Amino acid sequence: MKNLINFLLISACISSSLNSFSQKLKSDDIRLMVDENFITSTTNLHHFLRLPNDGNFPEQIENNKAWCDSVFKSLKFKTQTLITEGAPLLFAEKTFHKNRKSILFYLQIDGQPVDRSEWSQNDPFEPVFKTLKNGEWTTEEFDFYHKNMPNDVRIFARSASDSKGPAMSLISALKILEEQQITPEYNIKVIMDFQEELGSPDLPKAVLKNKNLLQSEMLLIMDGTRHLSNLPTLTYGARGITTATITIFGSTDALHSGQYGNYAPNPVFKAAQLISSFKNDKGIVQISGFYDGVHLSERDKELLSSIPENMDSLNSRLGIATSEKVAENYQEALQFPSFNIRGLKAGWTGKEVRTLIPEEVIIEIDMRLVPETPGERQIELLRTHIKEEGFHMVDSIPTKEERATYPKLVSLNWRIGSKPFRTEMDSSIGEFLNSALTKVFGNTVVNMRTTGGSQPMAPFIEALDIPAVSIRIPNPDNNIHAPNENLRMGNYKEGIISCIAVLTEKLP
Ligand SMILES: [Zn+2]
Repeated sequence: MKNLINFLLISACISSSLNSFSQKLKSDDIRLMVDENFITSTTNLHHFLRLPNDGNFPEQIENNKAWCDSVFKSLKFKTQTLITEGAPLLFAEKTFHKNRKSILFYLQIDGQPVDRSEWSQNDPFEPVFKTLKNGEWTTEEFDFYHKNMPNDVRIFARSASDSKGPAMSLISALKILEEQQITPEYNIKVIMDFQEELGSPDLPKAVLKNKNLLQSEMLLIMDGTRHLSNLPTLTYGARGITTATITIFGSTDALHSGQYGNYAPNPVFKAAQLISSFKNDKGIVQISGFYDGVHLSERDKELLSSIPENMDSLNSRLGIATSEKVAENYQEALQFPSFNIRGLKAGWTGKEVRTLIPEEVIIEIDMRLVPETPGERQIELLRTHIKEEGFHMVDSIPTKEERATYPKLVSLNWRIGSKPFRTEMDSSIGEFLNSALTKVFGNTVVNMRTTGGSQPMAPFIEALDIPAVSIRIPNPDNNIHAPNENLRMGNYKEGIISCIAVLTEKLP
């Protein structure tokens, strides 16, 4: 039986001796420390990944919480369980300097559920090391005493990238600094979440209840994947999301197209007219006020254009001839709210096709949001637009009277999902992080203003009212949420380097 909980972080024998003045650490010192400890750091990650961590199961949460608790205690942090109505959170804190400020780190400990049958290894919680040989991922027997772990070896396990690898990068960095007797430049608080993949349902309330405990200068989020270039990445925000379902009603039941064609109107044509009113042929949303409040300054555009991207190769990879014209390039496009039809249904197709006039059309929408365009507002704009297109809005299936009175009948249902958030890039947190990372990576750091996807972090960030940036560590081709999730060992190593650089950077 496998040893489920290994409470000890393995320590390395340190041969080099560095002084304890962290601000004097040079890039080479940091790289040397990380290299010398890398096998140890990898062994510890390997142990951590063996703990199943589906946030739906209290026992798994408890095992992971116990592991994290023992690890932070071994690093001489004070730890405390934060009780909520649902799953607990774990908080750890260490005061290194009486009169200095604190940084709060957010660690996601849980992972997505697994479908074992879809993985190329027996158990997603029994990590496997693999290298790419002739286009195939091939298992390597990894010798834990082997000193040269090639950067391109990957560790395959659930949560390797999302997000135990990033969490372990911070823990390994703290461990290395402790062993070298190097003191971080500020005090450290850590919040550990065991239900991020479930939308962190109890996190915002817990933050409000423990505001003083969590108070800090800034929040650093150890979650999220690097930019496609796989260069060190900082991300300052995420879009929010709102979804909607539009149903357009025709006759009470589907009708025979021979008997009623040319007589009973087909709702698909009404749907087509409505759909084509949503966007013009350049892909720009025509719902009045949809983009109101969103403005990119020349400086924003300059920062966005510094991201190493090539639209031609992007278009070729996506298989599209040309992009929509909401903005000038891909990064700028992510700064605007989007309007997407994610599903469309009427009648049948393929082998099931039949000669009917469908009775209804269902249009499924998702709208990504930015801070200037809240979900409630976007839904109201959509509702007004549909009415202006001549539709009569009903709450559910139309009544006989409504059918008799209105030729264009529609219902609209919606759900407000996660909120957007954004920290300014030209800010002291941005300068602080860039200064730290440039020290070890030179001018290769990618600063991303907003990621396209959504994260359940906004209420948490709002409650604390502090700037938040995520430090991105994993390789972009990491299969997160899917079978065969993996982390490139070169990325893990750079993750630890990043954390040491940030921990030893003076706060502004
Ligand atoms: Zn995730």
